[in-house]
Amino acid sequence: MAEQRLCFQAEVARLLDIVANALYSGRDVFLRELISNSADACDRLRYEALTRPELLDSDPAFRIRISVDPKARTLSVIDNGIGMNRDELIENLGTIARSGTADFIDKAAGAADASNPLSLIGQFGVGFYSAFMVAEMVEVTSRRAGEEQGWSWRSDGKSDFVVSEAEQSPRGTCVTLYLKQNADEFLTEERIKHIVHTYSDHIAVPILLGEDDTAPMINRAKALWMRPKSEISEDDLREFYHHVAHSFDEPALTAHWHAEGRMEYTALLFVPSSRPLDLFDPKRAHRVRLYVKRVFITEAAQGLIPPWLRFLRGVVDSEDLPLNISREMLQEDPILHRLRGAITRRALQELERCAQDKPETYANIWDNFGSVLKEGLYDDTGGEYRDTLLGLLRFRTTTSPDQPVSLTDYIGRMKPGQDAIWFITGDDAQTLKRSPQIEGFRARGIEVALLTDPVDDFWISMVGAFQDKPFRSVTRGDADFVKMDMDSGAKRDDKKTDEAAPAQDDSSRDLAPLLTLMKATLSDAVKDVRASARLTESAACLVADGGDLDMHLEKLLRMHKQLPDPVKRVLEINPGHPLVQAMLTRAQQGQADQHMTDSAWLLLDQARILEGLPPHDAALFSARLDRLLTGSVQDQ
Ligand code: ADP
Repeated sequence: MAEQRLCFQAEVARLLDIVANALYSGRDVFLRELISNSADACDRLRYEALTRPELLDSDPAFRIRISVDPKARTLSVIDNGIGMNRDELIENLGTIARSGTADFIDKAAGAADASNPLSLIGQFGVGFYSAFMVAEMVEVTSRRAGEEQGWSWRSDGKSDFVVSEAEQSPRGTCVTLYLKQNADEFLTEERIKHIVHTYSDHIAVPILLGEDDTAPMINRAKALWMRPKSEISEDDLREFYHHVAHSFDEPALTAHWHAEGRMEYTALLFVPSSRPLDLFDPKRAHRVRLYVKRVFITEAAQGLIPPWLRFLRGVVDSEDLPLNISREMLQEDPILHRLRGAITRRALQELERCAQDKPETYANIWDNFGSVLKEGLYDDTGGEYRDTLLGLLRFRTTTSPDQPVSLTDYIGRMKPGQDAIWFITGDDAQTLKRSPQIEGFRARGIEVALLTDPVDDFWISMVGAFQDKPFRSVTRGDADFVKMDMDSGAKRDDKKTDEAAPAQDDSSRDLAPLLTLMKATLSDAVKDVRASARLTESAACLVADGGDLDMHLEKLLRMHKQLPDPVKRVLEINPGHPLVQAMLTRAQQGQADQHMTDSAWLLLDQARILEGLPPHDAALFSARLDRLLTGSVQDQ
């Protein structure tokens, strides 16, 4: 087949443009990336050869070789891994399938210091393409294990690349970089040794430096997770994390343990310190690599890590799973199931310990991954991890708007007589703090949890209570202030305590003429109109009736088109507000005129607007406001 010239995917071309112009310092990561790819390629072939040993031919010993040719100014990274055929070369080295690519490129291109995108490249990990930081031309020759024909790929990293048949190609991949004028340093063996030592010592495949397979090995070539802890440095751990996680931040938490007994396995897991770009990908896949007795089986083994711990990175190496297990059957395997339980419990323990011993680190972890952990409260239908997860929960509150608190903190400072964990859900804490529904709570010094993750509405309805204290929404049902005030002896001394005597009974009776009138006026738009115990400043607010869907949850469901009809709400009005008082006086005098009707509707629309809802009827709202304003201006 003749040479074929093909264009890079548009994102890759943009990325290459950024990469090629990166500053000199920090460019040595290109070697780490190429070695990392070669090690993965060896791992993948080792796995395939378990069932098809013929793939190894006469070359069963995996290795990665680096060779330099100072005259030709080339550096090559050569592996005898799985290799790539023509289609794979085109697909893998011409596109980026990873989610978040476009976002990353926009960020990198728009960065304040666009000439130094390395920190961003670091976070994203541009992999193979980082070769163009040091090379003006890259040639890849590859033959896939089990195939006859080798293929060659060549590019100057501008807009296109050329693919052609390779004359002769051993199994695996050879990546040759034609170095830029300013990249001489990568032609010296000392420099290469140093880079390998810095970034790639943990690679379990031998790395040789020289012209053939007798060349000396320059790494330790032992699976890092199998080394005793005392022999692993912080740097080793960090670089290993970069390799397995494909992300280049510092790990926020590292857990390394070996389990023996009923189950034998080793795990080396990391919690990243920044959010991976695919964290909210609908697949919710994790990226913890599964090994069986040092043989790589798969990344993202379904069922190994629950989706709500998908931010974990690292390796689990089992001694118990059979080596010939097929990836497809894994999920059904009872050993994998038990492994998942053990890893989940231990990972949660590590998080608990971190929360205890390093609250600042934990705060960062919670900030990044709290919303994912909360999915566990929802997913974990058996409730196995519920209490642990609730213990890990952090949230801002009306009294602690900046410093997240735990449920234990919250319960520890509940008011006498307070028997519920009060919360409000919404899109952001700032808006929530100003919600009219929390006025009465604030006035009584009752702390309200401000929950702003979409998942909050869902888990909270599943969980129900923590340490026998029910979760109660401030925007739903009655706020039992009367009961509370009484129990605490704060306000009232009458004898009403039972649930059948809700807080607003007295004021309801007082407001009766106004409530009757408003109910008649607004009957199509609201479920009920009641006197409010929760308002102290605002004139009106909307709440969900006791058995109804909470308001923010309704909004979320409507956004996902999962709710055909709006739920009718209860309009609460504040008996102490001057407007309500004035309306009451008119109602008592039997004045059911247009002014009263307008005011009733405007109160409702005002409450709707505060909930982020449009007025009930925008045209009528505008006409009513118009009439009212005209009247008031004329009165002046
Ligand atoms: P990543 O490694 O993050 O997937 P890269 O751009 O580095 O991204 O590589 C893209 C893909 O190209 C890899 O996922 C792999 O399938 C393939 N690849 C790269 N280098 C090699 C290699 N030495 N041997 C086999 N496949 C490779």
